[in-house]
Amino acid sequence: MAAKKIVLNFPKEKIDKPIVARLIKDHDLSFNIMKASITPDQEGHMVLELIGDAPEIEKGIRFLKEQGVKVEPLAKDIRVNWGKCTQCGACVSICPTSALYVKDRQTMEVAFDTDKCIACELCIRPCPPRAIEVHF
Ligand code: SF4
Ligand code: SF4
Repeated sequence: MAAKKIVLNFPKEKIDKPIVARLIKDHDLSFNIMKASITPDQEGHMVLELIGDAPEIEKGIRFLKEQGVKVEPLAKDIRVNWGKCTQCGACVSICPTSALYVKDRQTMEVAFDTDKCIACELCIRPCPPRAIEVHF
């Protein structure tokens, strides 16, 4: 079993088509939608984690491209420099996926679950000591 996080951009003429449903059904995949939005010019944007057999994931990605969907890997890697982190908690309420979360309510210790991170970068600026870093 493999998993791959990808960023999808749907042209506006495709956003009402059941492309993701066909992707999942035809390739026997499961998925997590980590983020989905429609831009003001009506393009669809989605961050998706595909789970299934690795060859089927790759075939599924080919299918998406054939449908006119732009597919990119979620290539950015967000890391927390715990040596700089002051445990202020400012990032926790900002993180849309709860990748940054309070691990211990007594001590208010902040932790980071990389599997939940969609690399949106919303946490970067609000972090006072700049402890959150983007790696490419
Ligand atoms: S980049 Fe930051 S705010 Fe965005 S999902 Fe990852 S940890 Fe959360
Ligand atoms: S905002 Fe920065 S310093 Fe504050 S808890 Fe989050 S990572 Fe640590």
